[in-house]
Amino acid sequence: MPLAEDLKRVETANLSDKKLISAFKNIIRPQKYQKRKKAKRAVPTGSLKQSLDFLKLGTKYDGTPFDKADFKNFDEIRIKHKAEFNSIRAGIRYAHLMSKANTLRIKRANNQVSDGRGITLTRLIRIENDVLSFRVKASSRSVHQEHLVRLKLEGWNDSLEQSTGTKPDSVKRLKDIARGYLSIDCDCKDYQFRYRYIATVGKFNYKTRETAYPKTTNPDGIGTACKHILKSAEKLQSPTIQAVLIKKFLEQREAIGFGDDKTRNSNTYFSDDDKDTMKKARRDKIDVEQAKKELELYHKATKTIKYDHNLQKDLNKKKRKIKEGEAQNKKDAAKNKKDADKNKATAKKNKVTAKEDKTTIKKLEAALKILTAKAKKAEAKADKVEVKIAQKRAATELTGDSLELMKYRFSTHKDTYPKQNNKELIKSFMKKFNVTKAITLQVSEK
Ligand SMILES: [Zn+2]
Repeated sequence: MPLAEDLKRVETANLSDKKLISAFKNIIRPQKYQKRKKAKRAVPTGSLKQSLDFLKLGTKYDGTPFDKADFKNFDEIRIKHKAEFNSIRAGIRYAHLMSKANTLRIKRANNQVSDGRGITLTRLIRIENDVLSFRVKASSRSVHQEHLVRLKLEGWNDSLEQSTGTKPDSVKRLKDIARGYLSIDCDCKDYQFRYRYIATVGKFNYKTRETAYPKTTNPDGIGTACKHILKSAEKLQSPTIQAVLIKKFLEQREAIGFGDDKTRNSNTYFSDDDKDTMKKARRDKIDVEQAKKELELYHKATKTIKYDHNLQKDLNKKKRKIKEGEAQNKKDAAKNKKDADKNKATAKKNKVTAKEDKTTIKKLEAALKILTAKAKKAEAKADKVEVKIAQKRAATELTGDSLELMKYRFSTHKDTYPKQNNKELIKSFMKKFNVTKAITLQVSEK
C-alpha cells in the first residue's frame, strides 16, 4: 500500500501521552490530510454522473475497470448504509458497532489471529470535554508503532446536565454513556480507506468526513470500524475505566455548575494513580454474540417507541375526531335551536290561527243562529202567506166568484156567514147551505 511508504514514520512509543497527542495533532494528521487531498481517484458519491470517465478511476481488485453498474451498486449500498446506521442523533451504539463489524477486524482486535495483525494493548490517555483519546499499540506487522483512536461520547453532555452527582447515579450514567452513541476516528489507513466513508454516511464518523466510496478497498461496504477502534470501544466498557471516568465526569459537572468551562478542561490527562488503576482493567475481549443480542433488544425497544409513537398518533386522531364531533354537535345544536325557534314561532302562529278559527266558528255559529231564526221566521211567514193564498184560492174555486158575490147570495143567512177565510169553515158553510158545484156553475152562469 503506497500510503504507509509515503508517510514519514513517526516514532511514538517513547513519547509521553501529551507529546503523542501533540505529534498526531501537528505532524501525523496534517500529513494524512495532505495525502488525502492529492487522491484524485477518490470520487465523491455526489459527483457520480453518466458522463463520468470510469477509466480514470483506476481498476477493481481483479484488474478490470469500473463501470456504470459498479457505481449504481455503490449508490445502493450507500442508501442501505444510511438506512442501517443513520439515526436522528450522531454516533453509533456500542452493540451496533460490534454486531456489524467485519469478523476479521473483531478477531484482530481480540488478538485471535496468527498472522501478526492482532493487537494487544489500548490505553485511555485523555478526555477533552466528551472526547476520549486511546493510544493503541500497532500490530507487529505495522510500520507504525501506535495509533490514536478518538471516541466522542455523544451521551456525555446530556448526562452531565441530568446528573444528581451521587455515586450510584454516576455509575449508571457512565455505563449508559459507554453503551450508548459513540462517534469514532482512527488515524490508521484501514479506517481511512475502508470505514470512514461508511461512518460518514451513517453519521458516526468523528471529525474528518469521507465522501468517496471505498470502491476498491471495500466495494461491498462491509464492517463498521478498524480493529483499533473496536478494541478501544471494548476497553471503554470496563468498570475500572468507567470508575476513573466518573471522577472526570463529576469534576466537569462541578465546573459547569460554577459556569466555568475553562476549569472543565484544565485536567484532560490522567494522574499516575488513575493510570495505575486503568492498567488493571482486564476487559478487552469483544463478545459479538452478546452485542448482537443487545442490538436486537435495542431494536425491539425502539420499535416499542415507534409503536408508542403510533399510539400517540392514534390518540391525536381520536382527539381531533372528538373535537370535530363537538364542533358538529355545536353546529347541530345551533341549527336545532334555530329550528326550535322556528317551531315555536309556528306554534304561536298556529295558536293564533286556532284562536282566530274559534272566533270565526263562534261568529259563524252566531250567524247561523240568526239565519236559522230568520229562516224559521221566513218559513212561518211563507206558511202564513201560503195559507192565505190557499184560503183565497179555495174560496174562489168554491164560488167561482168573489166573496162579495157570496155575501150577496147568502145575505139572508147573515149570522152564519163565515167570519174567517178558513178552508174548513168554508167547507162547513157549504155543507150547511147545501152549496154544491151545481150552484157554483149557476152562479158563474149568471
Ligand atoms: Zn485504526
